[in-house]
Amino acid sequence: MNAPSVDWHARAAAIQIDGRAFIGGQRVAAVGGETFACVSPIDGRTLTQVARGQTADINAAVASSRKAFDDGRWAHKPPAVRKKILQRFAEKILAAKDELALLESLDMGKPVQYSLGVDVQAAARCIAWYAEAVDKIYDEIAPTARNALALITREPMGVIGAVVPWNYPMIMAAWKLGPALAAGNSVVLKPSEKSPLTALRLAELAIEAGLPEGVFNVVPGLGHEAGEALALHMDVDAIGFTGSTRVGRKMLGYAGRSNLKRVYNELGGKSAFIVFPDFDDIPRAAKTVAGSMFFNQGESCNAPSRVFVHDSIADEFVRVVAAETPKYAPGDPLSGTAQMGAIVDEVQLRTVLGYIAAGSEDGARVAAGGKQVRLDSGGHYVEPTVFDGVTNQMRIAREEIFGPVMSVIRFKTEEEAVAMANDSSYGLQASVWSHNINRAHRVARALRAGTVHVNQYDEDDITVPFGGFKQSGNGRDKSLHAFDKYTELKTTWLRID
Ligand code: NAD
Repeated sequence: MNAPSVDWHARAAAIQIDGRAFIGGQRVAAVGGETFACVSPIDGRTLTQVARGQTADINAAVASSRKAFDDGRWAHKPPAVRKKILQRFAEKILAAKDELALLESLDMGKPVQYSLGVDVQAAARCIAWYAEAVDKIYDEIAPTARNALALITREPMGVIGAVVPWNYPMIMAAWKLGPALAAGNSVVLKPSEKSPLTALRLAELAIEAGLPEGVFNVVPGLGHEAGEALALHMDVDAIGFTGSTRVGRKMLGYAGRSNLKRVYNELGGKSAFIVFPDFDDIPRAAKTVAGSMFFNQGESCNAPSRVFVHDSIADEFVRVVAAETPKYAPGDPLSGTAQMGAIVDEVQLRTVLGYIAAGSEDGARVAAGGKQVRLDSGGHYVEPTVFDGVTNQMRIAREEIFGPVMSVIRFKTEEEAVAMANDSSYGLQASVWSHNINRAHRVARALRAGTVHVNQYDEDDITVPFGGFKQSGNGRDKSLHAFDKYTELKTTWLRID
């Protein structure tokens, strides 16, 4: 995965970036001509100006997608044809991997070898996987009486609005695009204003692969402008949203105020990682939680940010986790070797530092990190931070920080650990570490989360659903279940005389 042989700085200096929107198969400036500056968190440099889409741009994109849907240029193609075009789209993504990886890192600050080895690969695999699935799914015939026939078929919904965050910009876009396009829908994608660049390139690659014009449009812009206009649009049939619980709540409101479009929310998390003393390899558990927590600068919805450790092993556990943190010291994201990069922007940096201050104010102890670093870079970097002595009531345990900050909370009994783990408004993921098979199953069943890991945290694949219980959202990305979000079920009754 490491690619130190590539001079990413030289490539960054040479790269040409087009920040215009992508509507109807071509690049276009915003109707009002407005732009916003796309600033790199790596060094504070302005990368380019990006089209600041507003209602008029959203209207144009939705009209283009609606026309493309209604005339059947994509939806009516045989599934095997859609498959081939989407497979080519995945191949194009892989062929452009260096450029996409560089854009992703410049835009949101993650280490470039991970953009290359994780983000580009996962986005391409997602598109290819849905492409391969779409001509292998059959509809149903209901078990009715002999004088009737009831067909249960899936139909594409129409125009899907996809609104995505900045932490995994390409992957989050692919999780919407894969199932929505494979099922025959048209998509208007609104990337985060903090990371719009790869989404715009994806749209160009899709057209090169043979996707008809208008089937996939991208309108960059601010959330309360382009995002709101898309979610309020009367001709959008569903919103596939990934982002904060705060905005997810608004999405439901926009649907209520407009056409009752379906809203699928994939929201925040505060995932619990529970370590019991009967797990015989404490260092493995501690190293795993450090790796999962500090990956992507801690800007992961499923980061295991609440770590519940049994009293009897907590001192050793905290010592090992703290000793791991230097491995994740923030470095230059374009070096090809740094394990942690830059925090996405100044606002997020202030949020993370604010929570670190709140942890100390509320009485938790900093066991590692806690400071802003690399100040002379012009970018935004925070040390991997571990708090010990946290209670489940403290702000750092209740609120999603979305930065490299881990809270260690001690417990005495299994019941107490499960009760605290479930005492959260979120329910995205959880993990239980125990060699007692009964306990592992018992606790896994008791945890209210969309995914529960046992004795690991890193397994993931496009084949399994991803999403949360409670205020972590509804619906599921990934796996065949994602087709449920972007298709309508139709029953057709026939009488047989
Ligand atoms: P955010 O909610 O601030 O923004 C997400 C998207 O919504 C952006 O494109 C933004 O422009 C848009 N938006 C903002 N305000 C809007 C409004 N009023 N109307 C319409 N659109 C609006 O989230 P973020 O800071 O970009 O991302 C971080 C959040 O995403 C975290 O909470 C994280 O847990 C969550 N996330 C969840 C998953 C998951 O699968 N559950 C995956 C990744 C990230």
